[in-house]
Amino acid sequence: MRWLYAFFITLVGLVVGSFLNVCIYRIPKGMSILKPPSHCPHCGRKIKFYDNIPVISYIILGGKCRYCKAKISIRYPLVELLTGLLFLVSYLRFGITWELLKVLVFVTFSECIAFIDGEHMIVPDVVSFPAIAVGLLFALFSVGITLKNAVLGAILGAGVMFIFRLTGKLIFQREALGDGDIVIMAMIGVFTGPLGVFISILFGSLLGSIIGIILLVKKKTDILPFGPFLVLGSFIYVFLIQYSNYLTIG
Ligand SMILES: [Zn+2]
Repeated sequence: MRWLYAFFITLVGLVVGSFLNVCIYRIPKGMSILKPPSHCPHCGRKIKFYDNIPVISYIILGGKCRYCKAKISIRYPLVELLTGLLFLVSYLRFGITWELLKVLVFVTFSECIAFIDGEHMIVPDVVSFPAIAVGLLFALFSVGITLKNAVLGAILGAGVMFIFRLTGKLIFQREALGDGDIVIMAMIGVFTGPLGVFISILFGSLLGSIIGIILLVKKKTDILPFGPFLVLGSFIYVFLIQYSNYLTIG
């Protein structure tokens, strides 16, 4: 039974990943995520359902549009694979529990935010605010953490980033962090509480610094979005550190 669940949840993850690709591409452009149906951004032809199967279609089509042969970004199968994998790991870690549902929702919102921030350096309110609301809803029923810890986490997360932002501006005389980073940490705080905030900022800063220094040495860029690293830090907390009393569904 366990492997059947694992297989099914991975499948759901692949499909969610496919939907995330639509969100990541359309939300920064201010487009609707529901219509029009998926089409090739190059030639505009509608993508048939059999050309829209997560990962498999990309491989069959050789990473090119069926009609105009325009290259399809490798990000599409990567986001699908990553989401499938994260869903599988979530199931193996949390079993069939309410907490699993919460982690899957958290992973989905976080991935969406991380990829959009990574590419466009913006954190869309249409994603982050619903994420905070849903996180509060889980906490209201004490899934994972209590409401008190969720609110504390959000205030702490946003507060620390606000202070970071002020000191960064003072020292470097330029915007080192954006409003988006404050919102991201409020969201992570709502889902993971004060300890999650601490771990996310710790690992996020560490990973961000390492990658930042590498890019600086290679003279690639000196501006780096912080959001993806904070999300990575929060995943380290959720999957490797968090202790929880599971609320079992069945
Ligand atoms: Zn095309």
